[in-house]
Amino acid sequence: MSEHTLNVAGVTVDTRHWIGGERVASADTFVDVSPIDGSVLGEIARGTTAEASAAVAAARAAFPGWAATARAERARILHAVADAVEKRIEDLSIVETHDNGALLRSHRRGVMPRVAHNFRFFADWLVGLGHEDFDTRGHTNHVSWDPAGPCVLITPWNAPLMLATWKIAPALAAGNTVILKPAEWAPLTASLFADIAAEAGLPAGVLNVVQGYGAEAGNALVSHPDVRRISFTGSVPTAKTIAAAAAANLVPASFELGGKSPLLVFADADLDLAVDLAVEQYDNAGQVCLAATRILVEETIAQEFTRRFTEKASALRQGDPRDETTDIGPNIHTRQLEKIDGFVQRALTAGARVVIGGRRGEGQYYAPTLLTDVAQDSEIVQEEVFGPVLTLQTFTDEDEAVRLANDTRFGLAATVATGDRGRAARVTDRLVAGTVWVNCFFVRDLQAPFGGSRHSGVGREGGTWSFDFYCDLKNTVSAPKGWRDHG
Ligand code: NAD
Repeated sequence: MSEHTLNVAGVTVDTRHWIGGERVASADTFVDVSPIDGSVLGEIARGTTAEASAAVAAARAAFPGWAATARAERARILHAVADAVEKRIEDLSIVETHDNGALLRSHRRGVMPRVAHNFRFFADWLVGLGHEDFDTRGHTNHVSWDPAGPCVLITPWNAPLMLATWKIAPALAAGNTVILKPAEWAPLTASLFADIAAEAGLPAGVLNVVQGYGAEAGNALVSHPDVRRISFTGSVPTAKTIAAAAAANLVPASFELGGKSPLLVFADADLDLAVDLAVEQYDNAGQVCLAATRILVEETIAQEFTRRFTEKASALRQGDPRDETTDIGPNIHTRQLEKIDGFVQRALTAGARVVIGGRRGEGQYYAPTLLTDVAQDSEIVQEEVFGPVLTLQTFTDEDEAVRLANDTRFGLAATVATGDRGRAARVTDRLVAGTVWVNCFFVRDLQAPFGGSRHSGVGREGGTWSFDFYCDLKNTVSAPKGWRDHG
């Protein structure tokens, strides 16, 4: 091991930035800690304005070549990246689990295969991308997608590589070059991925990774005048800071933010299914933006729902995320645990009642928690906790259910459990949310628009929406007259 590499359970990870196809160190570093046991994984390069500028310059230099690369060739390289990810699923899973504490089995079976799929999907979409020409008084209109230029991608720690590649893949497919700034609490898979992509044939400078803190490296990147797009996934306060930086340079920006999504359970629902959907909200120790953390249950079935929920949730196994039988792993950081517990303790002081949990566990674990007797305007109902904490409220009819569901500043997702198709149609029509699931949860097709309303985000990603965002659309109008035949 050199001074710039870590050994994470047998997998070597470089701790430096990846700029212009080369590893770059920084004068300073920051410490990366594993949430599993609080052990120090290593010291990571702490980027500043200098590294941010170098990365934007590298992305600028690589842009003309990548943008001019034929679509079929770009698609071939992105498929090669997907192949390479598939060969390293085990390594990527091990590193991610040690870095952010999410379940190893989820990484192996769901998350990392999805990383590869992100590249395949957008590579194929690129090949099929087209637009019918149309006619205006004999003139031909031809719409084309021109890549925008260097894109800055800023991502959170809860699903680090999956969320990063959900941006990297369409940005690169569209012909842009990118600079990724991963979250400082889980920076390792971004670095490992840079090596994997380079070995798969991605040209130097097309993908750059700058490590560091948001206020330093992140801020320097989003403020850089040569950046043409900013795509951010993270919290609302950070989004506001980035939006201001984007406004200063008039750069289009997309924001995927937090949520406080509802699960509406009607008396006509399949109750076991509804309970399963509710218990599923503890996935990733509750650190999921889409999580339906507000359970709204029709009063007549509330008691039975609570009984079955308690039975099922109490059987969840909390522990080491590397263990195949674990259902809930640790939370990311002691600071996050304190934040979660603060929310719960203030809710209890305000009169909430604990159904299950309501306390910290050993180490960096928080007991899966359900609180009831919570007021609609209370902090615990209105603010995103981002931990394994759910609230339960009751309603008496459809109108009240919809009113409670929509009474939030967020609008990321909503889940409805009902056996009545008419009700499903009526209720989903009235819900304010970027995604509504009916009798299911977390089914996400990359063709679908994904994003949030209100404070849950600005813009949509997925399929054509991603290409629209990462491209400057151009309409070329050609007159019927004026052509010379050079035949
Ligand atoms: P965060 O906003 O604290 O940090 C996200 C990223 O922004 C990190 O990489 C951080 O370093 C960077 N950053 C911080 N300040 C910055 C600045 N001034 N300039 C540029 N970059 C800066 O969020 P987090 O705690 O890492 O993530 C949790 C949040 O993300 C939750 O609110 C969650 O709901 C949200 N999230 C949303 C989605 C979605 O798709 N809607 C998905 C996952 C997570």
